[in-house]
Parts: sequence; C-alpha cells; structure tokens
Amino acid sequence: KELPSDSHTENTRRQVFEAAFSYVMPKVPSSPKLIHASKDMALNLGLLQEDISSDTFLKVFSGATIYPKTKPYAMAYAGHQFGNWAGQLGDGRAINLFEVKHKNERWALQLKGAGETPYSRQGDGLAVLRSSIREYLCSEAMFHLGIPTTRALSLILTGDEVLRDMLYDGNADYEKGAIVCRVAPTFIRFGNFELFAARQDNKNLKTLVDYTLKYVFPELGKPSKDAYIRFFKEVTNRTLDMIVHWQRVGFVHGVMNTDNMSILGLTIDYGPYGWLEGFDFGWTPNTTDRQHKRYRFGNQPNIALWNLLQLANALYPLVGEAQPFEDILHQYQVDFTQKSLNMMRSKLGLQLQLEGDEKLIKNLEDCLLLSETDMTIFFRLLGAYRKDNDNSIAVVENAFYKPKDIQGAFLDQWKGWFKAYDQRLQKEHLTDLERQLNMNLVNPKYVLRNYMAQLAIDKADKEDYSLITELYDILKKPYSEQPKHEKWFAKRPEWARHKVGCSM
Ligand code: AMP
Ligand code: MG
Ligand code: MG
Repeated sequence: KELPSDSHTENTRRQVFEAAFSYVMPKVPSSPKLIHASKDMALNLGLLQEDISSDTFLKVFSGATIYPKTKPYAMAYAGHQFGNWAGQLGDGRAINLFEVKHKNERWALQLKGAGETPYSRQGDGLAVLRSSIREYLCSEAMFHLGIPTTRALSLILTGDEVLRDMLYDGNADYEKGAIVCRVAPTFIRFGNFELFAARQDNKNLKTLVDYTLKYVFPELGKPSKDAYIRFFKEVTNRTLDMIVHWQRVGFVHGVMNTDNMSILGLTIDYGPYGWLEGFDFGWTPNTTDRQHKRYRFGNQPNIALWNLLQLANALYPLVGEAQPFEDILHQYQVDFTQKSLNMMRSKLGLQLQLEGDEKLIKNLEDCLLLSETDMTIFFRLLGAYRKDNDNSIAVVENAFYKPKDIQGAFLDQWKGWFKAYDQRLQKEHLTDLERQLNMNLVNPKYVLRNYMAQLAIDKADKEDYSLITELYDILKKPYSEQPKHEKWFAKRPEWARHKVGCSM
C-alpha cells in the first residue's frame, strides 16, 4: 500500500504493493547546463530550436521545475537478473515526467539520474556524465541505424557531484552528475508484469495488461484471452526483430535482464553495452558477466527467448492455458533461424535464397573467428568485392587486427571461402555496384565504438563537448560514406583493447 500522500516521504525507499507506480519529485540540480539536445527527437515532440534554447527546456529536463499540471512518477517493476529472480526493482533512477501527444504519436518522457525514488534500493538515483554520454549517443545512433530503441532528447549537466567509488586509500571518487531525458512511446517492461504475477496480484496484473492493450497496442483488440495471446505474440515478434538487428550490427546489450526488456521490443537501458570489434560470439562488454558470459553476443537470441518465457509465465494467470504460449515460443525459434539467415544473406549481398547459403555463412563465421577480424569494417569492405577477383582477400585486408596472420593455412581458408562466395555471387542478378549499394544499407560504416565514446567522455570531462557533437552528427548517417570522417572508420586503437564498457 502507498503511504499517505501528506507524509512527505514519497521518495523514500520501500516495497510498494498494489501499485504500478509512485509519485515522486525529481531532485533540484544546483546549476544545470545543457550539453546537447536531439533536434530530431525534439521535432517529434513539436519542439523547435527556440524551445530547446529556452530556460523552460533546461529547467524541465533537468528536474529543476515541474511542468504545470503534471505529476512525475516512478514505475514499479520486478525482474530476473542474470537468470535469478530479483524481486521488486522499479525506476530507481528514472523519473517519468509526462506524456506528449504530437502528430498522433504518443511519447513518454523520463529523466534518468534525477534522484532517488521508492525503488532506488542501495543506489542514489543519480547518473554520472560518463554513463549519460554513453546512453545519449548510443540510443540516438541506434535509432539512425534503423534499430528499435528508446530515444534521447537531452543531455544536461546537473552541476552536482556524484559519488561513484570509494577508492581503496579511503578517498572518495566523485564524478560529474548528468541527466538524460529518455523518450519512448512507453517504458513498460517485461518486469512490470512479472511484479504483479510474482505477488499473485492478478487484479492489478489484469489492470496493467488491459492498460497496455488500450494505450500501447490498441490494434490488438479489446481485452480477452485471445487478445492477451495476440499481445504476447506481438511482443515476441518485436523482440525477435530487435535481436536480429543487434546481431546484424554487432551490438551487445550486456544486461539483458527482464527488467531491461521493453514491451515494445525497443533497445532499452544503455549501460555496459558494446559493439563487436573483433567478431566473436563469446564476447560481452559487461565486466560483471565475464565468468558465465550469460549475455555474450552469440547468446542474445537465446536470452531473449528465455526472457519471453518469463513474460509468458507472468501472463499465464490471465489465460490459464500454456499451449498458446508454448506455440509462440516455439515459433520464435523457427522464425529466428529464418530471419537471421536472411539477415546474413543481406549482409553478403545475396538476394536469392539458395540451398547452401547456410553453409556459406557458417564457413564465413569460421573464417572470421580465425584471427581477430573487425566485424563492422569487414562487412563494409566486403561490399567492394568484385566478381572474378583473383586477389580476393585484399579487399577486406584492413579488417584484420593482425595483418601478419594473412598467410599459410589462414590465407588458404579465406581464399576457399572467397571462391565459394564468388561462385554464389555468379547466381545473383545484380551488378557488383548494385550489390554494393544494397550491402551498404545493412552494413553500417560508422558505429559507436567504445573508444569513440570514451574519447568524447574524456573531453567532456574537461568541458569540451565538441566530440559529442561530432560523433552525434556522424552517427546520424551511419550507412553513408562521409569522407571527412574517414578516421572513425577504423579499427579500435591498441590502447583501447582492454577498455570495456561501463554501467553506472
Ligand atoms: P540496471 O542494471 O541498470 O538495469 O538497473 C537495475 C535496477 O537498479 C533498476 O531498478 C535501476 O533503476 C536500479 N538502479 C541502477 N542504478 C541505480 C542508481 N544509481 N540509483 C538507484 N537505482 C539504480
Ligand atoms: Mg535497467
Ligand atoms: Mg541501467
């Protein structure tokens, strides 16, 4: 039960029962400063440049003032973290401000890092500049890659310091605090449903599902058992679509807990995420997951399925039958195999669906694993391959981190693969150039490599925000050739090899 509203304890940490959210107040920042705003996202909300530059914008999206007639709130949710039931979680450092309806689209806006809420548990509800830059840049980059994602409207410094680590010498390590305004049609997650299901609170479970149907998926019809099943099918399809995109560009989320799974199939919660540099199914950017590597690149499709199973369990009480859920989960596996195969075909510029394609792709993956090979660079360069080429490997040479490896058995295996690829291309109807143009639409040239974000962070720490702007602009056109920015189409420099993502 909620505490009485006059108790002035809205933001205190606690277990919250029989409620989907709690009203909270953002912390007032001491001297907010706008670092960057997404004009693109602002336009979706009907905001122009003059609005972005206004004092109101700064105040509202830093939490300094509450927009008239709105009531900020934090959502309650639960979740499975790293495969274990974690109980009540909730928006521990996100505060929902309001929703905007513009051009028939509905957008929920929330501040990440605006202070504690009832769901903050041991955390402080704050976010540091470092993690805020990573979320801000990456979510917008993902959007421009055509990948379903939450968006970012603004990146604001709070002017306050945030304690992140106690150093072993007993001194405190403070970092600059920041707030990102995140935007999505809804921030409802798998975990919102799991919370009520775990508490056997079927009444509120039904209220939440019916709400979600009405406001998020009105096309699925009025609440009924069939609509609940259609709902699960829709979430499954969207999740599958998102995962295939992640695998296409080599994005590794890093924390695929069920509380980080959007009901809309959006990429959400940019923490220790990373991009594959060397192609490696076993890679994860998350240093806390290095032992089991549960959320490694190659496991993302399985984890999504496991998470969907948890959502099915949560929805089950409303349907009372397991079979429809099992059928949908089974179909996910069938569909994934097919869609992932077609996605890989598109990366290779193959339009026809021929027998033997699976083997060609498998053999390519084996080659890619022979020696550290940059995924983004490899596929982008592969587009420049021309049929009947004797020196085939030269075209992708720049993707290899250890050029010395290009000899002997390594070279033979690659030559064998290119020979098969060439034969396969002879069956296609497009010209080399047409194929390259198609490939360039699915194989991005620019992604937010970890070291790029890190360089932007290091500069921002010295109050130089120019690299944030530069990267933001480049990543708006990830599939385009941008000759002026060729230096970012490069392998990770050696100094960044052991640097990994960060979360908090
Ligand atoms: P995450 O691993 O980022 O998905 O976070 C898991 C849970 O911890 C979520 O409920 C977050 O809201 C909460 N959380 C993460 N960081 C903080 C923080 N600095 N303060 C309060 N809660 C946090
Ligand atoms: Mg989260
Ligand atoms: Mg997080």
